[in-house]
Amino acid sequence: MQATLRALGIKEINDGCSTGSNWFSSGTNLDSVSPVDGQLIAKVKTASTEDYLKVITSAKSAFLYWREVPAPKRGEIVRQFGDKLRAKKSDLGKLVSYEMGKSLQEGLGEVQEMIDICDFAVGLSRQLYGLQLHSERPNHRMMEQWHALGIVGIISAFNFPVAVWSWNTALAWICGDVCIWKPSEKTPLCSIACQHIWNEVAQENKLPEGISCIINGDYKIGELLTADTNVPLISATGSTRMGKLVGTKVAERFGKSILELGGNNAIIITENADLNMTIVGAVFGAVGTAGQRCTSTRRLIIHENVYDKVKDSLVKAYAQLKIGNPLDEKNHVGPLIDKDAVNNYLTALGRVKAEGGKIIVEGGVLEGAGYESGCYVKPAIAEAKNDMAIVQHETFAPILYLIKYETLEEAIALQNGVPQGLSSAIMTLNMREAELFLSARGSDCGIANVNIGPSGAEIGGAFGGEKETGGGRESGSDAWKAYMRRQTNTLNWGNNLPLAQGIKFDLG
Ligand code: NAD
Repeated sequence: MQATLRALGIKEINDGCSTGSNWFSSGTNLDSVSPVDGQLIAKVKTASTEDYLKVITSAKSAFLYWREVPAPKRGEIVRQFGDKLRAKKSDLGKLVSYEMGKSLQEGLGEVQEMIDICDFAVGLSRQLYGLQLHSERPNHRMMEQWHALGIVGIISAFNFPVAVWSWNTALAWICGDVCIWKPSEKTPLCSIACQHIWNEVAQENKLPEGISCIINGDYKIGELLTADTNVPLISATGSTRMGKLVGTKVAERFGKSILELGGNNAIIITENADLNMTIVGAVFGAVGTAGQRCTSTRRLIIHENVYDKVKDSLVKAYAQLKIGNPLDEKNHVGPLIDKDAVNNYLTALGRVKAEGGKIIVEGGVLEGAGYESGCYVKPAIAEAKNDMAIVQHETFAPILYLIKYETLEEAIALQNGVPQGLSSAIMTLNMREAELFLSARGSDCGIANVNIGPSGAEIGGAFGGEKETGGGRESGSDAWKAYMRRQTNTLNWGNNLPLAQGIKFDLG
């Protein structure tokens, strides 16, 4: 790991603020402790208010430069950034895995997502289309233009410590915006590594400071960003609790926000499902990233005719799971992020029992050799009712609820019957069932899949969810529009001044 840290420019103690080649910090130290082995990886100095103001000044000045650079040229910079990521994929993926605790495969997958969004953004940099409209007045032209917005504040969660930043920043950059990233205080080193990689591109192209900035620290630094009228857009990823605070604060000052918050994702398993495929999808969805994906499978809504079969297969599959160091590819399940997460998991299991749920695969915390960090837990399964308070709540851990249904309409109502609306899936080979699920009477989530689980979205589609998931969209499709401001232009090239709606205004 030392060679990886060196290759990514990480030192024992790192400044947590940067505007590019300029690194500084006068706040207290933050320890980055790996959930894999409980070891201190490195320290990061956090941002003070003065550091924050320095970052804002630099970003404001960079915006004046960057918005003038033609969009395809900005795309070329993003292309180079994508190439640097290709070269650093192995090191960065390893750091993601070690600092966050997800499997090495998933760590590498996260970096691949960064590369993919860069490729997407490069093409998009030549496609920031506005509309041309027909005016009701003669010799008039109407059109829509999209202009750069300014500084984009990116607040990110621990569980996708690099990909979510890149979804935002790659699009924001080609749109002509500059970015200030407030990463999770649980994964600060990932942000330091990404900023070093950006810096190589910035220096090779003689770009000014401030196009990519990072400010490390806890929620208080996030609060400076959300309250700041210098920052027209805040893109915040994290818990619904955080989103409510951030969304309110940004709305108070008429700022824009993209909120990507908690999920409570279900798979409906009909009697027409291919059960072999279903079991693999359900187990990966529930235990992958130790249940710490916003799109993790939390509920299985199973038709009564296949309920026992699915249940038995799941119990057998869970018995095969190998839990341990996520850098070892033989293991299926790594650790939770920290001991607070372990306590939340234990509390949730207690609540399942107290609220009448029946645990069929016991959970528990693992101890002994290989589990010294105290963050490794056993994935659990419980039979439950959808309206139990604990089932309605997102527990960020590998706990899976089994719920029985009779009719598909009932199953869809159960799937939709939670406050969150991120992702959903149906397993069926019946076309009518699949189409009903995808129809307006079907899933109410931002993502609805057929014959794949709710997680593992591709960057080409718009990503995000409804209801308490916050309503934001990031990544593909036309999500770029959120990073720009729309301007409607009417241009009169005639000799008269006709008014709209036929209004006459004669000065005699
Ligand atoms: P969290 O809400 O604890 O923290 C997320 C970020 O918000 C951190 O950087 C934190 O410092 C910051 N923050 C917290 N309070 C703030 C405030 N008042 N003002 C400004 N910033 C503040 O979330 P977490 O534990 O890091 O991540 C897990 C959560 O994120 C889960 O709920 C998960 O579903 C969600 N998530 C959602 C998506 C999505 O796209 N919908 C993706 C990843 C994670």
